[in-house]
Amino acid sequence: MTTGPIGKDIDAYDSCPPERFVVEVFSELPAAVVEERWQHVNVILRLSILSGLQMELEATLNLLCDLAGEMVSYERAILYFWDESKEQALLCAMRNLEDLPHEDLARGNILNFWATKYSRPLLVWQGHNLQADAFLGAVQASSALVIPLFVSNRVMGTMQLFSSKPQAFNFVDAQLLWILSLVAENQLTREYANEGLIRFAFTDFLTGLKTRGYFEQQLDAEIKRSERKKQKLALLMIDIDFFKQLNDQYGHHVGDQILRDVASLLMKDMREVDTVARYGGEEFVIILPETNSEGAMFVAQRLRRTMEQARFFAGSPRSVEHLTISIGISVFDDDAQFKRALIENADGALYAAKKSGRNKVVLYSDLASRQREVS
Ligand code: GH3
Ligand code: MG
Ligand code: MG
Repeated sequence: MTTGPIGKDIDAYDSCPPERFVVEVFSELPAAVVEERWQHVNVILRLSILSGLQMELEATLNLLCDLAGEMVSYERAILYFWDESKEQALLCAMRNLEDLPHEDLARGNILNFWATKYSRPLLVWQGHNLQADAFLGAVQASSALVIPLFVSNRVMGTMQLFSSKPQAFNFVDAQLLWILSLVAENQLTREYANEGLIRFAFTDFLTGLKTRGYFEQQLDAEIKRSERKKQKLALLMIDIDFFKQLNDQYGHHVGDQILRDVASLLMKDMREVDTVARYGGEEFVIILPETNSEGAMFVAQRLRRTMEQARFFAGSPRSVEHLTISIGISVFDDDAQFKRALIENADGALYAAKKSGRNKVVLYSDLASRQREVS
């Protein structure tokens, strides 16, 4: 006999395979249950009426969590949904679990795995399976009800409800929340597809940076925020020097690889709040919120030096290339009060950096004051 970490006989302990937690479901509820649970059926009807609304995926997942709370009483809840781009289950909503370490919950768990495997609800109780117990212990629960969430007939997420009471949930709860999940399927499918498309439209396929479309929207939002908070915002416009020569020498394929490497160097030391986007060809833009001209100059010079010192692999192990970048900076609201003018002024400063010999950073404000001196 082997003894487990909690002193139980593992052979006996593990005798409960996860199939035993799976709940069989039916397309209809018995009339007596509907009568007894009329209020709960009403919640499902409300969801089906809401399903015509345009909502964001996360808002719908939160709504599901709240509606589930009107049908069964749980103390804590977690909702996971599959993120196609990261290829992992992500924590999308939770209730009363904020005090637990986020990293313990962030990546899904065994209940997720089982719900995906069996495509059915699960009623899980403490004391029957080691893996389940480990997770129930982590969320301080004695029982759980797990409901799969579907997108186009595939399990793409789970709603996990927990209670500190043993056997707090029953088969009718599982059946009702199952129906809730099926009613939500069309809505989840639509929102999931929309968000996938949005993500696709906002990610540059070559570099993985944000696209110009995303940048334009983000700059609008950041300018509004800067106005509200009465803070500066810097815009960096960056262009690779003599990139055409590299392309001509090594071919487009190597040029593309170098663009990817430049993109990852641009991303390297940026803050979470900064936006790095590919503006076009070999031009990039960076939005630095809450940053004045001195701060922007510091960041730009750091990037310029990083590129100057970097070695770029150009096709064969022996061919290592160097390159430089030129950067123009304009600052809201010192140099421009509107988005278009802010972009044009950064572009003007970039042009001046090119004209003055490349591998340079130019502030639009310096350019403007020099022009004033000349005239
Ligand atoms: P400078 O900016 O210093 O004036 O010179 P440059 O040679 O970089 O400028 P130019 O604008 O004349 O050339 C930009 C080149 O960038 C043209 C094109 O060959 C290359 N390019 C633009 N987009 C891509 C891309 O997606 N992949 C590759 N490989 N090259 C690209
Ligand atoms: Mg260019
Ligand atoms: Mg260039």
